[in-house]
Amino acid sequence: MATFLSVRPRPEGAWTARDAPRKQLIQVSEDIVTRQVVRITAGKVLRSDDLIGDEREVATAILRANPAFGNPHVVRCDWCHETRTLFRDENETPFKLTAHGWLCESCNVKAASQEVKF
Ligand SMILES: [Zn+2]
Repeated sequence: MATFLSVRPRPEGAWTARDAPRKQLIQVSEDIVTRQVVRITAGKVLRSDDLIGDEREVATAILRANPAFGNPHVVRCDWCHETRTLFRDENETPFKLTAHGWLCESCNVKAASQEVKF
């Protein structure tokens, strides 16, 4: 996992118009994978786990290459103690994204969130 394809610019012009839907699909699945890499690294950074090799550099490079992602947030409910690492546009049960952070839908309380910076 030392090198990460999507950090490098994609070769434009390698696709034809007929590839467009496929290209979009690849883009979406790449986003999911790259977000997951950042998410896992963010969790480790927060817990002060040992990082393997250049994990932090890889996560930083991914975020730099994808400014729309923003930094991940560790979202935690003080009542049920559920915790998720989410980007600013993500909902994951039991957390629901609101205009002001996340709501724990199980407990119907505002969740605490902490932005993770690399
Ligand atoms: Zn809760």
